[in-house]
Amino acid sequence: MANTPDLLYDAVVIGGGPAGLQATLTLARVHRRVLMLDSGSYRNDPARHMHNVVTHDGTPPADFRAAAQKELAAYDTATIRADAATAVAVYGDGFRVEIGAEDVTTRGVVLATGVRDTLPDRPGLAELFGDVVAHCPFCHGHEFAGKPVAVVGSAAHLVGIMTPVASSVTMVDEESVARFERTDDGVRIVLADGTTTEYGGAFVATQLQQSAPFAEQLGLTLLPSGCVEIDVMGRTSLPGVHAAGDMAHLAALPMPMASVLTAAASGQIAASALVAHLL
Ligand SMILES: Cc1cc2nc3c(=O)[nH]c(=O)nc-3n(C[C@H](O)[C@H](O)[C@H](O)COP(=O)(O)OP(=O)(O)OC[C@H]3O[C@@H](n4cnc5c(N)ncnc54)[C@H](O)[C@@H]3O)c2cc1C
Repeated sequence: MANTPDLLYDAVVIGGGPAGLQATLTLARVHRRVLMLDSGSYRNDPARHMHNVVTHDGTPPADFRAAAQKELAAYDTATIRADAATAVAVYGDGFRVEIGAEDVTTRGVVLATGVRDTLPDRPGLAELFGDVVAHCPFCHGHEFAGKPVAVVGSAAHLVGIMTPVASSVTMVDEESVARFERTDDGVRIVLADGTTTEYGGAFVATQLQQSAPFAEQLGLTLLPSGCVEIDVMGRTSLPGVHAAGDMAHLAALPMPMASVLTAAASGQIAASALVAHLL
């Protein structure tokens, strides 16, 4: 690290969701000069409340982030900016992070940019997703308790998970669905043949895409899921670049264990491993 003495930060954390917030807190706790960049677009934006988060079951995600930012404000070496990073590149012994026309330099990077969900292309679905249509029974399942539930598509395991919760669980072939409509207390699924059925809630599977191009820019090893491969300490294939949250996972898993708490936990691990890298 001595060869590039002008590096401004010890760490730049890109992402201000649970993974990035916790990574920043971990770095700030040991007084590393850390910059967190947050472009303000979060995976759980469609949901009004988050669940299955101990001590925060039912908290609006924005309240959770505001509380975390308030805690971070107490640490002098942590800087938070509501700006998007536009590029990341190797720079001497560290990295250069572009924020539009501006460059900052850093000894290490934590990528915590998350993923985006692409929904099945059906009218009405986007408006209902995160409310009466969900993808994860742990996040949004108890809310459908005692009501009839539809599982749309091939996610057959959801039938078993939801059976003790719902009054009934019906598999619906995604190809046969024409559109989704809101009802007073749930969702109406209209099939291509005109048949309609009302449910208290429905589940769909989503496709995940990386939210940001930095893994590609840095040539990081990717997994078949499209996520960045990390080891148990959150290290990517490029020393000094760590990753956390939904955008990265161990090769042993088929996909990220996507939740607020696992994202925060992985942010803590990635940041503490980055502290070790900086020593
Ligand atoms: C509808 C829905 C409901 C959910 N409900 C729950 C729930 O109830 N409980 C639960 O545990 N989980 C829930 N989840 C899952 C949970 O939202 C994610 O697992 C979690 O948000 C992942 O955190 P993250 O920090 O990896 O990513 P995110 O929270 O998505 O944060 C990504 C961050 O990266 C930033 N970013 C991206 N690109 C850039 C860039 N170029 N420059 C700067 N910043 C950038 C974004 O602005 C954001 O700050 C839900 C998911 C969905 C889709």
